[in-house]
Amino acid sequence: MRFILSITRLAPVILMTGAAFSQPAYDLLLQGGHVIDAKNNISAVRDVAIKDGLIAAVGARLNPADALKVVDVAGLYVTPGLIDIHAHVFAGTGERGSYAGDLSLYPDGYTFRVGVTTVADAGCAGWRNFEDFKDRIIDRSKTRVLAFLNIVGSGMRGGRFEGDLKDMEVAPAAEMALRHKGLIVGIKTAHYPGPEWTPVEHAVEAGTLAKIPVMVDFGNDHPERPLADLLTKKLRPGDIYTHCYSGLRHEVDESGKLNPGMIEGRKRGVIFDVGHGGGSFAWRVAVPAMKQGFLPDSISTDLHTGSMNAGMKDMLNVMDKFLAMGMSVDDVIRRSTWNPAREIQHEELGNLSVGAIADVAVLNRETGKFGFTDMYGARLQGTQKLTCELTLRNGKVVYDLNGITRPDWEKLPKNYLQTGDPRWDGIMPQRRNTQAPPRGAK
Ligand SMILES: [Zn+2]
Repeated sequence: MRFILSITRLAPVILMTGAAFSQPAYDLLLQGGHVIDAKNNISAVRDVAIKDGLIAAVGARLNPADALKVVDVAGLYVTPGLIDIHAHVFAGTGERGSYAGDLSLYPDGYTFRVGVTTVADAGCAGWRNFEDFKDRIIDRSKTRVLAFLNIVGSGMRGGRFEGDLKDMEVAPAAEMALRHKGLIVGIKTAHYPGPEWTPVEHAVEAGTLAKIPVMVDFGNDHPERPLADLLTKKLRPGDIYTHCYSGLRHEVDESGKLNPGMIEGRKRGVIFDVGHGGGSFAWRVAVPAMKQGFLPDSISTDLHTGSMNAGMKDMLNVMDKFLAMGMSVDDVIRRSTWNPAREIQHEELGNLSVGAIADVAVLNRETGKFGFTDMYGARLQGTQKLTCELTLRNGKVVYDLNGITRPDWEKLPKNYLQTGDPRWDGIMPQRRNTQAPPRGAK
């Protein structure tokens, strides 16, 4: 054992072959990165070791000889996999003009490349179509997909459905949420055009029965149901007000002063989420709110076909906007990992505690001249931009922008084939240790 360890220390590149005759303590070691783990109050250079899909050790210096694979991540941030609690991913039904269809996106193309390992769909499905959503997307995605269940039974299929008070039934929504406890992490109400409180009230009733939070997109602005009443009377502590910097419901007044209901709501424990989207984030709201100390609890995208190429680009872009407004990297990461994990009652996620699921993002902070645009196309200039180098899901590499986990091709045997190992490689794990090309390959 000692002998093998000393060999592997000398030649980390051939660690994978060493594994054939030894059983290393760790599958993967991320070496020398700046770990930001809000739950454990860590913001410092640490090594992170992974074994069997879980965090096995975090320390100032772990022995690289104990690992099957060592990756140098010095100069990069190592954070829990990012959690985006407001996305729209019920794609594939073919329904036009519907978030239970064409307006949604398949998650895997938009997540790992920006360090996101978990998304919560924000109400695309209601109790009538949740199991279809589960079958199409949740069960087939590499991304961990959770969901806020729409209080509307038919889900987010357009105005005709979303304005129908009769389809906002408490009992079947709560029942579906309890049937899929852990997968359904909250109840959503959204886009309601009318003056009634019914959507919010029914969502809260269902959330109370299922013991999960409610996320509110407060729909059209109506004097009959002012924002302050929502935040100070209707929502419970732990319920989530998303689109908090949209300015569409008097979050700030014309002079930029915060609505006292926002401050009072926060005192009561209401959660404030960004939900940037195509039409829910304005500099003229966010900047004065931030200056008054009103930071978001969680940063989220509201990713969908209408937002993905507009002011909002992706999760890291939304995080960059908070860096540009002066928030620290630590605070931005907290609001994209541990805070959202707690908001959706998944405290096993969003942290790098020993024993935690090894969903990890390795991020680079670039400095330069960058621009960030809001829902109206107004720009704020910034000097920092996060990019994703590496993403791990369940301890496996699922995204590697610059091949930092891979060997240089010229150093490999002439007829090299597989270069990874399924214990850490989630990109091409199926071709493990093959001498011949995989079946069917030419
Ligand atoms: Zn949304």
